[in-house]
Amino acid sequence: MTRRSNDNPPRDMTTRLVNAGRDPFANHGVVNPPVYHASTIVYPTLAALEEADRTPFEGTRYGRRGTPTTFALEEAVTELEGGYRSIAVSSGLSAITTCLLAFLKQGDHLLISDTVYAPTRRFCDVMLKGLGIDVTYFDPLAEIGPRLRPETRVVFMESPGSLTYEIQDVAAAAAAARDAGAVSIIDNTWSAGLLFRPLEHGVDITIQAATKYIVGHSDVMLGTITTSEATFLRVKRASAMLGVAVGPDDCYLALRGLRTLAPRLERHQATASRLAEWLEGRPEVRCVLYPALPSFPGHALWRRDFSGANGLVSVVLREVGRDAVARMLDGLELFALGYSWGGYESLVVPFDPAPVRTATRWSGGGPCLRLHVGLEDPDDLIRDLENGLRRLA
Ligand SMILES: *Cc1c(COP(=O)(O)O)cnc(C)c1O
Repeated sequence: MTRRSNDNPPRDMTTRLVNAGRDPFANHGVVNPPVYHASTIVYPTLAALEEADRTPFEGTRYGRRGTPTTFALEEAVTELEGGYRSIAVSSGLSAITTCLLAFLKQGDHLLISDTVYAPTRRFCDVMLKGLGIDVTYFDPLAEIGPRLRPETRVVFMESPGSLTYEIQDVAAAAAAARDAGAVSIIDNTWSAGLLFRPLEHGVDITIQAATKYIVGHSDVMLGTITTSEATFLRVKRASAMLGVAVGPDDCYLALRGLRTLAPRLERHQATASRLAEWLEGRPEVRCVLYPALPSFPGHALWRRDFSGANGLVSVVLREVGRDAVARMLDGLELFALGYSWGGYESLVVPFDPAPVRTATRWSGGGPCLRLHVGLEDPDDLIRDLENGLRRLA
């Protein structure tokens, strides 16, 4: 909403997300921003066309560069993440690949967390290495200082780490990167931008798979990039050169999801906390990985940096065979077997971090399950899991 006054007190993010990126009175009083479908944008005169060419990254130029629907989402995400400007892209993975390609060229060095999302790693190992970029993985619990080199151009973090939630000292790593002349980028999908604002901790660029909590309804692929002022143009130019485009209907759905992000996340956290505590007391469970649990190894750092937790809970079971795990998972009624997360519904997937990681050693001691705790009734979810754990026997 544009009817802002500097006299107003700063508002809570819950309130800001309800209003960000929309201006009803610019659109016939309609509450939500309209969906503009466009490829061609026309100009009334040659002078107007030439004027538009002078500011290629402002306003509508061509459909690939976005329409007012895209810009509304970008404005709202900037409010959420607290950066200079945001760029909507076609998926979370394309947000990552666009940022990395914006800064890296042959002979450069990339320092990247060992616990990143697996497809991020595949992109680095295959495409970036293929382009002659040197890639090193770091232990997110160790200081990155000794691993920085003169040719390190980018430090890429993801905190908490994928699947196992290792919490990194993001501010320390961002400061070390800056001192070494490298750009710091973080995958902030876990926090949805609501539980942690990386740019306030010295990080240059934060990305999200908006596919997850921002969209929130398991029906859209979308990524967001939010940058500092100094890094914006470089990333914007890269996204334009790479031809990354987003459909306006997807932007509309992401804006719709954003309106309810705060109350959804509160509920995801409340139910996930309850399930995590309950799972910790079960004899079939070796350990539960959930940053808000006092038993979680990174709990203190999580408390220092994050304002809350989400619906992701990982469970390490006591040693059982694959058939037992299949009996447990196949019979679940509310936790569906499926990748991704962040929607309203509960999900479960088995995982094994051991074969992928190289800078850290995973020794969980049993089969691992990643739960995404949805918006269902907590008692119903506990009953479903309780029946499932019984089937392990
Ligand atoms: C899902 C996910 C991505 C990729 O997002 P897509 O929209 O599926 O491409 C990136 N990072 C993290 C942490 C994710 O969970």
